[in-house]
Amino acid sequence: MARTKNALKSKIAPINIPEIISTLTNNYGPFPEEPRLDPAHELTFTILSQHTSDINSERAFQGLMNTFGDLMSVAQAEVSEIEQAISRGGLAKIKAPRIKAILNRILELNGSLDLSFLSEMPLQEAKTWLRQLPGIGPKSAGIILNFSLGMPAMAIDTHIYRVCQRLGLIGKKVTADKAHELMEEAVDPEQVFTFHIAFITHGRQICKAQRPLCEECLLAKHCPSKDQFTVLTSLEGSDTLVAKSKGKKPTSKSKKVSKRVSVKELPHSVPTGDRT
Ligand code: SF4
Repeated sequence: MARTKNALKSKIAPINIPEIISTLTNNYGPFPEEPRLDPAHELTFTILSQHTSDINSERAFQGLMNTFGDLMSVAQAEVSEIEQAISRGGLAKIKAPRIKAILNRILELNGSLDLSFLSEMPLQEAKTWLRQLPGIGPKSAGIILNFSLGMPAMAIDTHIYRVCQRLGLIGKKVTADKAHELMEEAVDPEQVFTFHIAFITHGRQICKAQRPLCEECLLAKHCPSKDQFTVLTSLEGSDTLVAKSKGKKPTSKSKKVSKRVSVKELPHSVPTGDRT
């Protein structure tokens, strides 16, 4: 039985990480690599982007900057005022005290909100410094160091984690925290930013959580998970045919996946001028 199953599996063509990055960049890119915010602003934006869409986090950030003008004023503001300023972004009751606490902790530790000194530190020390702040985990630290200071820190979000697992770059049991370490070792430091944007875009557009569009995927012939999803899709297709032959409407689960036009959109990107 096991032999039959293996025989049904399609062959997987080997591919390495630089080739994957190149394939995805050719399709979705190019991705402009330039620092967009100073680290304290990036940190604040990162908190606002937790568990919300890009558009809502951008609205919340704009609300915060329009209300207070600078982060020192945010640090000194009442939590209720911050909450009101970021209300359009969602989860304001959780994020407002978090932002105030983090900014004030930075002031205690550093005497100012200027975090540019992090770029002078070895990468691991810079990460450790940021991770002592309340609510800053490996992903947020990676985003701040990579996006703001151009350091080769890996930030693994849910999309990147999923794509890495499906492509077999990390094992199924590897935690998200451990994935940061493994992928930071595996990816050329020069390519960390491009890797991040390319994988997150692929995860959002093609390798989606519930219904990956393997038929449209440029990496399909290299992907050990493709068969698993192809079987699911064909089973759903059979459901549709059976339902039609019985004169029933196919269930939403049985409907064929819709083709998606490639949208060139940089995740986590707001022009600098809009975020200062
Ligand atoms: S083939 Fe399917 S599972 Fe594999 S990376 Fe592409 S979309 Fe994801």
